[in-house]
Amino acid sequence: MSAPHPRHASATLRPRFSIGSYGIHFGVILAALFCTSQANALENLSLQLRWLHQFQFAGYYMALEKGFYRDAGLEVEIREGGPGASKPIDAMLSGEADFAIANSGVVIARMQGKPVVALAAIMQSSPIVWIVRADSGIYTPLDLAGKRVMLMPAPESAELRITLAREGINPAAMDIRQTSYNPQDLVDGTTDAYDGYISNEPYWLQQKQVPYRLINPREYGVNFYNDVLTTREGLLRQRPEQVEAFVQASLKGWQYALENTEEAVQLIHQRYAPNKDLGHLRFEAQELKKLIMPELVQLGHMNPGRWQTIARHYVDLGMTKGPIRLDGFIYHGKTTPDNHLLYVIVVAATLALVLLGAIALRFAHLSQRLRLEVDRRSLAEQELLNTNAQLQKLASTDRLTGLWNRSKLEEVAAHEIKRAERYGLALSLAFLDIDRFKWINDEHGHETGDTVLHNVAQRLHRHLRESDSLCRWGGEEFIILMPHTNLEDATRFAEKVRVLMAAKPIEGEISVTVSVGVAQWYDGETLRELVQHADRMLYRAKENGRNRVESFTQQDAETSV
Ligand code: GH3
Ligand code: MG
Ligand code: MG
Repeated sequence: MSAPHPRHASATLRPRFSIGSYGIHFGVILAALFCTSQANALENLSLQLRWLHQFQFAGYYMALEKGFYRDAGLEVEIREGGPGASKPIDAMLSGEADFAIANSGVVIARMQGKPVVALAAIMQSSPIVWIVRADSGIYTPLDLAGKRVMLMPAPESAELRITLAREGINPAAMDIRQTSYNPQDLVDGTTDAYDGYISNEPYWLQQKQVPYRLINPREYGVNFYNDVLTTREGLLRQRPEQVEAFVQASLKGWQYALENTEEAVQLIHQRYAPNKDLGHLRFEAQELKKLIMPELVQLGHMNPGRWQTIARHYVDLGMTKGPIRLDGFIYHGKTTPDNHLLYVIVVAATLALVLLGAIALRFAHLSQRLRLEVDRRSLAEQELLNTNAQLQKLASTDRLTGLWNRSKLEEVAAHEIKRAERYGLALSLAFLDIDRFKWINDEHGHETGDTVLHNVAQRLHRHLRESDSLCRWGGEEFIILMPHTNLEDATRFAEKVRVLMAAKPIEGEISVTVSVGVAQWYDGETLRELVQHADRMLYRAKENGRNRVESFTQQDAETSV
């Protein structure tokens, strides 16, 4: 359907169907076929132009040359159109190309059920006009009646045919001929009206200094989009990001081309259309700018209402049947509803992941802090325990001898008395006092006295039984508490201790003897009473000559009562 407009090129200035031209186009076709497989590769995309290289496609060349496609991650191949080249829409729909430039007749394909999508309309108005000689006497479409009028087959000629219809002119009232693609016919007078592009043939006529006039459909209310960038639905569905990237890079290319017209003209002349002279390219640029209207309309803009009107015109012309349904025909950007849902899901999932990550991080951070805190506290607790233990030890230890002190013994004894009470166990106590210790102090000094005290304690401690408890009761007095021990065994042990003490010197030459009073605990007795009994026996031992053991017998108990 959308055959490339044959007028739209410098080719009007050279034989259209020359062997050389075919040769070039054959090469292009081969290259296109060869590259088809590449076009399916992820980053490779191809664009099928609708005519020979000229300023009409400046935006795409600039997007390529300025690296806009490359920056968007795309490798784009621009394929020239023209005689012998694939029809753009057919090539695009078959997958031979990814994008195609079409005229507004592309909407007919859509209405016929072809999966074509209009991505951007570059020309806000169509460049198709009738060109008549200034001396023809033709001023309006009405004047074409009875004249020889050139016309392309529909839909290429749609704008002109609709102009006739709107003006109430029956095409049968004129001599309609197939277009010759050669404006020379106008010069030669073999046609009265030549259908061409406002951006092309007028330049040629100016060069030939042939005065001319234009019959422009726009002046009769016919305003069609032209040079519409299109793709197929399948590609849009499969590679939406790349389609969007392609559209954006192409529009950027157009922006650049329109802002840097001379640079674009030079580049097109050098690299793409060497046969088209610079003047012609400049003229084309200037005329196309008027149709693109970059100052007024956002590049590529498409109005759904205008597409509806265009479609209505095609239906009215009988080129296609209604109803006019254009759902999915007009591209609205990357986020189609499905993509939008996907986008929402991806964003939500990302947010959830980020949230979970943040929670996990926070949790990790907190547990790390908690662990550190626990470590710190257990360390502090340990230190406290150590300190307490040390304090406890200090509080219960005699500094000079390292033995338990009196209060510690009282504590242990209370515990042992309870046990003895509960289990009916024997419990005995020996009260020791160093004999004539004052003399040692007096004779050897207080310091030596201390050493003697210390050594006596060591010797006592070394010979203690495992279950016994020893303390320094005060001064040079010691107490040994003996659980599970009756008076007889306690007396025997006390005697052993007494002998041990006297057996060899305790410090240097100094020897000591001890006097010991022994008593057994009787049920109901307090520690105080038990110690008093032992003390009484100690006193007795002193009285009886020292260096001896006295035990608190039943008889003693009776006399004390
Ligand atoms: P007895 O045989 O009657 O027990 O005679 P004694 O000299 O040992 O008796 P006394 O209780 O009269 O004297 C005890 C002396 O022990 C008095 C005191 O100076 C001395 N003493 C008490 N505690 C210490 C001490 O920690 N270090 C020194 N070096 N001497 C002490
Ligand atoms: Mg004493
Ligand atoms: Mg003494």
